[in-house]
Amino acid sequence: MRCLLFICLLLGATQGFALDRNSVEGYQLPNGLQLILKPGNDRGHVSIRLVVGVGLDDFSCADQQLPHLLEHLLFSGIDDTGEGGLEERMQALGGEWNAFTSHADTTFVIEAPAKNQRKILDLLLGLLTRTQLTEQRISDAKQVVEREDGGHYSHLQRWLDRQDLGHSASNQLAVELGLKCAERAEVHDLTRQQLEAVRQNWYAPNNMSLIIVGDLDRLLPAYLERTYGALEPVEPSEHRPLAAIDAKADAERELVRGVVGDTATLHWLLPEPVIEGQSDETWSLLRDYLEWALYSELRLKHGLSYGPWAEREVFGGVSFLSLNADLERENVPQARQVIEQLKARLLKDGLDPQVFARLKNAAIARQAWAVQGNSALADYYWASLGDYEEGHFADPAKQLKTISLEQANAALRELFAEPGYIRIEKPLFGYHSLSMAILGVLALLIIVAVSWRAWRRR
Ligand SMILES: [Zn+2]
Repeated sequence: MRCLLFICLLLGATQGFALDRNSVEGYQLPNGLQLILKPGNDRGHVSIRLVVGVGLDDFSCADQQLPHLLEHLLFSGIDDTGEGGLEERMQALGGEWNAFTSHADTTFVIEAPAKNQRKILDLLLGLLTRTQLTEQRISDAKQVVEREDGGHYSHLQRWLDRQDLGHSASNQLAVELGLKCAERAEVHDLTRQQLEAVRQNWYAPNNMSLIIVGDLDRLLPAYLERTYGALEPVEPSEHRPLAAIDAKADAERELVRGVVGDTATLHWLLPEPVIEGQSDETWSLLRDYLEWALYSELRLKHGLSYGPWAEREVFGGVSFLSLNADLERENVPQARQVIEQLKARLLKDGLDPQVFARLKNAAIARQAWAVQGNSALADYYWASLGDYEEGHFADPAKQLKTISLEQANAALRELFAEPGYIRIEKPLFGYHSLSMAILGVLALLIIVAVSWRAWRRR
């Protein structure tokens, strides 16, 4: 019996450890490389994320593609066999890799069979240290980056971007407010010297985090110290300050999307105010609440929108919370009225305590199953690096539990204190107005033809 109890305790403990996704084996090597290691439940596989702390926002609008171009170049090969040879080596090891450059970081994403994890980490290290940036490779990589961005940036596209026709509603607003570059950054003027400088100043161990989740090799810590631990640290570079709102934007605008159609999308974008002591989870919870409120009002009660949604997005140093709805073109005024009434009611009565409690419980429950498997866990750590400290990631469920109805109401009142920005996306013509226009033109042609015949007869 005692033995059985012991086994139960043991099983409980290992399961508890495996389930606690927020505690990891995390430490820094002497050269500053941050390691985050987590034994995962799935056997035979590891997920690797190498996060380099350099992204698009670290450069001016003209040079913004530098880290992205360098990311592509790092896949151009580590010897004479070039890009193809490098890919062949990865194939032979049974792994897959990719990389992404975002506004905040550049990340190498690898899925690998556990038995080859050290060989694959060797290959990644080779890519970081042995890639030669030749002029030929730079010009090839520029073509790829250009193609990825939708081909050569034509005069027409540049003009459309300046007219805000090439941006989504939130991006358009961010450009207007000075939070985002107005035009797509180009690659053709970027030089080898610039690329080498980015590599030299930012691709250093003290600016990197290496996340490995899964069936970890027992020799991994010693291996990492010997190999990645030998990378030379650099004097850290300062990140550029994040863009702040530095221009005024129109309170309301219509944005043309396509030529003909009877649909429209309504966006109401609100900058999230900075409130001392307010956690990010409060805004997530408020987002959930507003999405449910939109759904109840616009879909269930009024049948105006099929899938209205609330969204949070960050541009530069500003977060936005937006309320959005897909609509029939002629229903836009009615939907705006419904949203105005919703706002007035929320300001007057506050959030419904029952709905708030239900959505808060759902958000806490979601934390138990939201991150499944090695890859998702590695991605989760990558996204949460800002909340990491000494072997622990902040526990979102714990933070959600602490949010009170009063706190959420206070945040809501501050959010609604500013009028925000309305953006309505719709095609140039509705079908009805287009058919009217065509009929008008036809009528005009007939009148002209008839009068011309009458004039000739005279
Ligand atoms: Zn790319």
